[in-house]
Amino acid sequence: MARKIDHIGIAVKNLEESLKFYQETLGLDLTGIEVVEEQKVRVAFLPIGDTEIELLESTDPEGPIARHIEKRGQGVQHLAVRVENIEAAIAEMKEKGIRMIDEVPRYGAGGAKIAFCHPKSTGGVLIELTERE
Ligand code: ZN
Repeated sequence: MARKIDHIGIAVKNLEESLKFYQETLGLDLTGIEVVEEQKVRVAFLPIGDTEIELLESTDPEGPIARHIEKRGQGVQHLAVRVENIEAAIAEMKEKGIRMIDEVPRYGAGGAKIAFCHPKSTGGVLIELTERE
């Protein structure tokens, strides 16, 4: 079902501050910054090899990224795996007893269709299913 790591989502307090490390120290290129209203985040995209690092800064103190940082500090927040058909993937996960945070896909950064699996069902990792063109 899963084809590749689509991206790694990293929660940061300040996008511009964090970008210094990824751009200047790691030497990655920033290909864009996008605000995703629905997720209350500002996202910076940094492709690396066949995948991408996404830095996530909260636009709202009540947003999921702000809450994550409050509880666990900055750092890796989720792992996104690419699937071909997200509706089918959600159905398959549920069939296999995985608890879904999103039973219906929603739209994430870059217009991708996404759905999160509950970390209680995945051994502690917030897994995002991602379908994109
Ligand atoms: Zn993501």
